[in-house]
Amino acid sequence: MPDYEAVIGLEVHVQLKTRSKIFCGCPTTFGAEPNTSVCPVCLGLPGSLPVLNETALRYSILTGIMLGSTISSFSKFDRKNYFYPDLPKNYQISQYDLPLCVGGELEIEFEGKRKRIGITRVHLEEDAGKLVHAEVEGEDSGVDFNRTGVPLLEIVSEPEISSPEEAFAYLKGLKLTLQYLGVSDCDMEKGSLRCDANVSVRPRGEKLLGVKVEVKNMNSFRAVQKALAYEIERQNRAIAEGQRIVQETRLWEAESEMTHPMRSKEEAHDYRYFPEPDLVPVMVDHALQEVLRASLPEAPLKRRDRLVAQYALPEYDVEVLTSERELADYFEACVTAGAEPKAASNLIMGEMLRLLKERALTLEGCKITPKHIVEILALVSSGAITGTTGKEVFAEMFETGKRPGEIVHSGGLAQISDQAELDRLADEVIAKNTKSVEDYRSGKAKAIGFLVGQVMKATKGKANPQMVNEILKKKLEKDSSKR
Ligand SMILES: [Zn+2]
Repeated sequence: MPDYEAVIGLEVHVQLKTRSKIFCGCPTTFGAEPNTSVCPVCLGLPGSLPVLNETALRYSILTGIMLGSTISSFSKFDRKNYFYPDLPKNYQISQYDLPLCVGGELEIEFEGKRKRIGITRVHLEEDAGKLVHAEVEGEDSGVDFNRTGVPLLEIVSEPEISSPEEAFAYLKGLKLTLQYLGVSDCDMEKGSLRCDANVSVRPRGEKLLGVKVEVKNMNSFRAVQKALAYEIERQNRAIAEGQRIVQETRLWEAESEMTHPMRSKEEAHDYRYFPEPDLVPVMVDHALQEVLRASLPEAPLKRRDRLVAQYALPEYDVEVLTSERELADYFEACVTAGAEPKAASNLIMGEMLRLLKERALTLEGCKITPKHIVEILALVSSGAITGTTGKEVFAEMFETGKRPGEIVHSGGLAQISDQAELDRLADEVIAKNTKSVEDYRSGKAKAIGFLVGQVMKATKGKANPQMVNEILKKKLEKDSSKR
């Protein structure tokens, strides 16, 4: 049996983060009471006319520029005709032969290697409604039209993905890119990112593509990966058994972890596409493209590379810091304000992310400014406060937004580096802990750790640990020579 390879192409639909729908003024709020965000336009009532949302258009062009696509100077909308209960007009306004963006690529990282996956096209269309099926017997099923007309961007990749793991990396990279652009929140749970996969197999080295199967109904990136692995295995097995692969659409079932046939794949002519007569064609001039290009953020992988080179940070740190654009912005703002990069990175990845996660907060609502970070790092590195106190100050700063210096001052948290004070405390601890003192003198060097700990405890962690260590050592050795 020849060695077979998989060929995968992904079709990703993302809801654009606009306030209103693509062709009317209805809000796009997720989770609103069913059928409350609707109007004659998105319900497709006779006589109503669509008007294109400019922000949706800008977001789409922005995405195209980011992916290196050619932005069409002339594109148009088309009607894609099909009947479905959640599609009130019985057609969807989409783009057929003249999409907004053509070509492009997305650089992904997979098992430590970089690869560019070609983009076929990016086009704009409207979302459909949602069928809500009865969960209890006797209850009615219904249709919610709130989602009807939410702007949807379809991003189609070239069939250049060669494994389920690579598909996962592509989705991760695409999601991060769209989040950096701020055009979609890409939340698969809320359905703002959906993915269909086209997969076929062919003998390794063969140029022609095998018969492709479309797989739908995956609700997480992991599900896409699993569904592809299952489907590749199924096709390989079928070929080995001498069966023919049928071009069809199959549904992924999460419970059984299998794909099942849904329908034979429809062809473009089944949809009877024709130009949407109620919308004017879209003409994007050079000037608009330039304005949008100037507002492009740095691509996530480019930013990672730059952060490693510019701040000499470990790969791990940079991966965490660039996992959200806001986090990377925050880190760089701290460095610009004067923070030492590695120290700032440690504090952000450690205390900051821990507290944000604990309170289920985002950076947006965080009270700690980059200036606060610079100040607290300076307090710790100069020895004005101990590392332990630093964590305490950080927690209070997180709650109140007060300056670290103010917290240290009002809480009497400054590090105790006063020789006389530490001498007195060391004497007390030596007097109270004769067992550890004897242990140390009989050669158990580790026993000093306990004694240092006792002084730290007595000062609530404020004593300068290095000084305490030295003072105790001197005292213990001096006393023993006296005997
Ligand atoms: Zn509407």
